[in-house]
Amino acid sequence: MTIILRTIAELRAWRDQVPPDQKVALVPTMGALHAGHMSLMGLARDRAEVSIASIFVNPLQFGPSEDLSKYPRPVEADIALLEGAGIDAVFLPPVAELYPEDASTFVVEESVSLPLCGAVRPGHFRGVATVVLKLFNIVTPDIAVFGQKDAQQCVVIERMVRDLNLRIDIVRGPIVREPDGLALSSRNIYLDAADRRAAPAIFASLEAARLAFEAGERNAETLAGIGRAVLAAEPWLKLQYWEVRHPESLAAIETIGPAGALFAVAAHLGTTRLIDNYLARPAE
Ligand code: AMP
Repeated sequence: MTIILRTIAELRAWRDQVPPDQKVALVPTMGALHAGHMSLMGLARDRAEVSIASIFVNPLQFGPSEDLSKYPRPVEADIALLEGAGIDAVFLPPVAELYPEDASTFVVEESVSLPLCGAVRPGHFRGVATVVLKLFNIVTPDIAVFGQKDAQQCVVIERMVRDLNLRIDIVRGPIVREPDGLALSSRNIYLDAADRRAAPAIFASLEAARLAFEAGERNAETLAGIGRAVLAAEPWLKLQYWEVRHPESLAAIETIGPAGALFAVAAHLGTTRLIDNYLARPAE
């Protein structure tokens, strides 16, 4: 049975009953769970004796013109999926439980959250870092699992954990994709038939750059150019960015060195914004 916890007090009472020698793994989500989320649930179950998911559509990470009110919220189906996956508990707080009306303390990361999605979604990572730190303080997990799908989010959280000395191991789960390469996302349900036909070009652009990288290309602009050219051939898709960055600092680089690189892409299909990425690691 997955225990449903709606208040911080209920969560803490549940957490207090976990024996101290058992590890707790948390998977934060916004719900509308798909196989990508469920792969993270599997990792949580593998890595810890006790697993908990949170489902919270965090208003603080949505911009004023973003999809907060229409974001899918199939709570019953989500709970059934968590039950099926053997997750021990789910935290489903109402907005007022996490944000008092006069809340005035926020977490602002000032470097890795600035480029890429941070540049086009002002305030987004402030919302993410704030809610994740709150969830960490409420749940006090030993392990927290995030998806590589949101690569910059992983980098921001890892930086926050390091800078604020949190005693939590961050685990990154690999990107789960549709058979044609489209990364699973709760936002894919917004795609109409024409959007859906164009969407795999995002993965195709990453694959083209990956192949060039594996063939020995190390120049960041050349690789980004290869990716951008693939997307340019799909006029239905509006490119927002296609960048090759240092995988930890997310700084612009000229040449890919021993640290490897993050290939990161964001594009619009109609009003739907999709992101994807590839982590390039030089062969050892
Ligand atoms: P969200 O509900 O969109 O906030 O996502 C919750 C978690 O699931 C985040 O850590 C995401 O990175 C992760 N996630 C979303 N889509 C995928 C995917 N296709 N593969 C792996 N993890 C994913």
